[in-house]
Amino acid sequence: MENLDLNHIREYYAGFDSDKLEDLALNEISRLDQKALPLLEAEIQKRNLDPKLIEVVRSYQDSRRPEIIKKWLDKLQSQPCPYCDRNNGPLVGTWRRTIKSFIFVTTTSKSPVIACKNCAADIQRKAFQSSALLGWWGLPNGLLRTPFVLYNISKDRRESEKLSKEQLQEFTLINMGHLIYSSDDSSFLNQILKAYNGIDT
Ligand SMILES: [Zn+2]
Repeated sequence: MENLDLNHIREYYAGFDSDKLEDLALNEISRLDQKALPLLEAEIQKRNLDPKLIEVVRSYQDSRRPEIIKKWLDKLQSQPCPYCDRNNGPLVGTWRRTIKSFIFVTTTSKSPVIACKNCAADIQRKAFQSSALLGWWGLPNGLLRTPFVLYNISKDRRESEKLSKEQLQEFTLINMGHLIYSSDDSSFLNQILKAYNGIDT
């Protein structure tokens, strides 16, 4: 990024109202260029906004350091399960994959899941059963695609540890702002996890 662009970004941030800066730090930060982060930090500092916002922006600047990721990943994993609301050990990440057919219409879905081990296993078992039961009855896609969906669910189970690590890391990077900013507010983190899992609250 050229200096000219950085100057432009500095002016841009200076023109934002404080709510917009807060929104940027909490919700948009994973999409910002690393080089823009010190400018955002400086603007937040200049306005004496909540010091937790500065911690968010700094953590993102260091987010390639494994210990930073690990700190917030541990925080994430120690939350109660968004499905059963219990503290059943560290949360894990996986996919919910389903296929359903009705004559000529076949629909597939793939959505991320972060849950306790029991709930994650339960979700996958149900997704497998319903796909094995309802996937085939569509021509031609149901017949063609159901075996792949069932294979992928089995593969997710076989490679659960690797998949979990990837999913949790992805969530942590995207939501680090919320994890830091709301680190003392378990009910807010629980709401974010519920929203991520598509659970109505
Ligand atoms: Zn659970």
